Amino acid sequence: PPEQLPVDRTKPTLVVLGSGWGATSFLKSLDTEEFNVVVISPRNYFLFTPLLPSVTVGTLEPRSIIQPTRYITRHKKRKVDVYEAEAQEVDPVKKTVTFQDLSDVRGSAGSVTIPYDYLVYAVGCENQTFGIKGVPEHACFLKELGDADKIRTKLMDCIETAAFRDQPQEEIDRLMHMVVVGGGPTGVEYAGELHDFLIDDLKKWYPEVADRLRITLIEALPNVLPAFSKQLIQYTESTFKENKIDVLTRTMVKDVKEQAVVVQDANKEIREIPYGLLVWATGNTSRQITRDLMNKLASVQTQRRGLVVDDYLSLLGGDGIYAIGDCTATSYAPTAQVASQQGIYLASIFQKLGQKAKLERQLNELRATSADPAEIEAVAKKLSRASKLTPFHYSHQGSLAYIGSEKAIADLPLFNGNVASGGGAAMLFWRSAYISTLYSVRNRTLVLADWLKVKIFGRDVSRE
Ligand code: FAD
Ligand code: NAD
Repeated sequence: PPEQLPVDRTKPTLVVLGSGWGATSFLKSLDTEEFNVVVISPRNYFLFTPLLPSVTVGTLEPRSIIQPTRYITRHKKRKVDVYEAEAQEVDPVKKTVTFQDLSDVRGSAGSVTIPYDYLVYAVGCENQTFGIKGVPEHACFLKELGDADKIRTKLMDCIETAAFRDQPQEEIDRLMHMVVVGGGPTGVEYAGELHDFLIDDLKKWYPEVADRLRITLIEALPNVLPAFSKQLIQYTESTFKENKIDVLTRTMVKDVKEQAVVVQDANKEIREIPYGLLVWATGNTSRQITRDLMNKLASVQTQRRGLVVDDYLSLLGGDGIYAIGDCTATSYAPTAQVASQQGIYLASIFQKLGQKAKLERQLNELRATSADPAEIEAVAKKLSRASKLTPFHYSHQGSLAYIGSEKAIADLPLFNGNVASGGGAAMLFWRSAYISTLYSVRNRTLVLADWLKVKIFGRDVSRE
């Protein structure tokens, strides 16, 4: 990379919280010349979440879908500080952020507080559990890379234990029962990947127990994938039926025990469903730091769902704070598509803020040297143009989801209408769309190589 401009204390400090979809697309598009940028995130990489379900069964290797945050920042004009740390508090009055290194290896530096002029708040969400007992202890989530690794390990553990000598029949059935809670896209994609693993690999490697594997998807609403079109919901449900994935709709999980979930069905009947592996995918809720920030701005931050921003993504009540992605409460779904478009838009706002600062400096200099009034007016005009902002506009590119057995579904807003497509063609589209949105050539190469590897050798069933 070319030599970077050093930190310049005369320029404002821009702190970015997070390294997910919102923060990364913001950083990619940001011109850092007019700002001293500090990035704080507990993970030092970007995770391509759309392909995360493929990691749970080894279709993709974990490192194929991540990219270090420094890969982006080291190419910026001005030096960017990147800290692997968790922000613990934002003080919107003093305009400070407090953060701490919470990793296993810690030096002697404790918690650090730094001032900001601008804050880009993109910390995402955490997993929603609705306060249901036993979820954090017994279920696996599917949000972070570590979650996918944990699922892969636990899955193999269940299978090995089911194949253990003299295992009682009832215990084999329990161990080989994979239960997924939540019929949103995360739960559906995971169930699809699991089915592929069963058909492509498990039958070959574990013929003695493979036929005992059952997949059950539990959804509280009358159907899965409420955000997709009716036709694609039906297509998904019938594909799941063919693939022997049991879908229990109108069924709500009420309690989670170590080896069984307690559910209530549409007739209000309560029963227990034994499981070996439980994956919990019931959506998002705000992080503690976000709830704390809302409480500090309680007179204007009144939505429980997340932070309220204006049309320019500026946080209501927070001077210099902008919020993007899943942590906000907007009319858009909490998706990567929205977060990344917001990140790009916000970078354009900062481009204007930078331009404005430059022009103001220029104007002051011209006035101080009593320059030609025409020249002063020209700069003043440019300044007024740079001060005009256009509101954020979201452009929906469609929704895609992989549903297993080389089939995907695609809801695409084309030709002024919606085109819904399912099947092999949608699967090719799904693959090419994701390959092209992966951030780097390195990621694209690794993902393509993993797909090829699995095609030739099958998935690796060793347990880490
Ligand atoms: P995130 O991407 O979650 O990023 C949040 C960042 O903040 C992370 O880097 C995190 O480490 C960091 N952070 C957390 N706490 C702190 C803290 N205290 N201080 C500083 N940093 C912090 N959307 C789609 O549009 N299409 C898809 O196909 C799709 N597939 C998905 C598949 C799965 C399995 C999942 C879980 C989600 C999927 N999504 C998809 C949704 C998408 O991933 C999210 O909407 C998107 O990640 C939101 O971006 P974000 O930047 O708001 O949050
Ligand atoms: P979600 O909120 O979309 O779905 C969660 C589901 O869990 C809901 O249908 C809800 O009715 C159900 N549920 C909640 N509590 C329950 C209970 N106790 N028992 C049974 N069911 C229960 O969550 P998600 O799938 O994690 O998705 C989160 C966001 O990420 C969404 O905006 C989604 O669009 C996005 N995403 C998109 C893709 C994609 O486009 N391919 C993939 C994954 C996630």
